[in-house]
Amino acid sequence: MPLKIVVGIKWVPNTTSVSIDEKTGTLIREGVPSVVNPHDLIAVEAALKLKDRYGGHVTAISMAPPQAILGLEHVIGMGVDEGILISDRAFAGADTLATSYTLAKAIEKIGDYDLVIMGHETIDSSTAHIGAQVASWLDIPYIYYAVNLEYIEDKHLLRVRRILEDSIEIYNLRLPGLVSIAMHSDVPRRVSLTNKLRARIEKPIRVWSNKELDLDPNCIGLRGSPTVVAKVEFMPKVPRKQEVYKDGDPKEAAKWLVERLVKEGLLKIPGGE
Ligand SMILES: Cc1cc2nc3c(=O)[nH]c(=O)nc-3n(C[C@H](O)[C@H](O)[C@H](O)COP(=O)(O)OP(=O)(O)OC[C@H]3O[C@@H](n4cnc5c(N)ncnc54)[C@H](O)[C@@H]3O)c2cc1C
Repeated sequence: MPLKIVVGIKWVPNTTSVSIDEKTGTLIREGVPSVVNPHDLIAVEAALKLKDRYGGHVTAISMAPPQAILGLEHVIGMGVDEGILISDRAFAGADTLATSYTLAKAIEKIGDYDLVIMGHETIDSSTAHIGAQVASWLDIPYIYYAVNLEYIEDKHLLRVRRILEDSIEIYNLRLPGLVSIAMHSDVPRRVSLTNKLRARIEKPIRVWSNKELDLDPNCIGLRGSPTVVAKVEFMPKVPRKQEVYKDGDPKEAAKWLVERLVKEGLLKIPGGE
């Protein structure tokens, strides 16, 4: 039986270039390039591998601002069949509870699904809450840090492995179920030009606002978010001296380095001052 799979992908600021507003403690998102959360590309790869092997249909969902359509186009370029962007000002300011509730309701609206796949965590907030919370809202079983998914067709089960330090756990997951994929467990495939063109021409992407989902405004966005960030403390800034030893002699360089470290109180020589 072909599998109907939903994959959650988050559109995140490319964290190598993100900075934090020291006054408000929030991420400065303006002008920051965004990407699909790298761990979610591994989740997409897991979904596509299942589809390659057993047949099926993969839908990617993302709750994000309108620009995230580019992220959905990217995963459609990898082979995902369709994308759903959940986007509305009413969803803004959501903590993980409101985010997971909205995603779960969107998955319920998609309806006929066998498996939900999420990434391990995101690179911007990295709470790793969403998978467990979505499973809980949907009242379906959940396995975290999964690798090597295998569909047992005659029993309609998913065989899932978890690699621990000294052992491998093997589970049979009753479907419908949800798995979060272990980071670095696979290499996401490349975008193909044919698929990318399909994304642009056929536009297999739908946008759902709260008109379509019809969720209680008290359960979504900032109003549905009990989490309050009380205070953000920044590490004290330590100015760097950036002294460079330029002469080429390694012995002299080592002597110079030791002297500098002793002078700065960073190194004590036994028997020295
Ligand atoms: C008080 C508060 C206010 C916040 N306000 C904002 C805000 O205004 N804007 C903002 O961007 N963030 C905001 N956040 C952060 C936001 O709550 C989280 O980014 C979001 O809930 C997802 O959590 P995470 O990134 O830790 O995901 P994780 O739990 O680390 O993600 C696990 C997996 O879940 C899936 N997933 C996660 N998020 C999504 C998504 N949006 N769509 C589809 N799949 C997803 C992915 O597969 C991902 O790999 C706020 C947080 C708090 C506490």
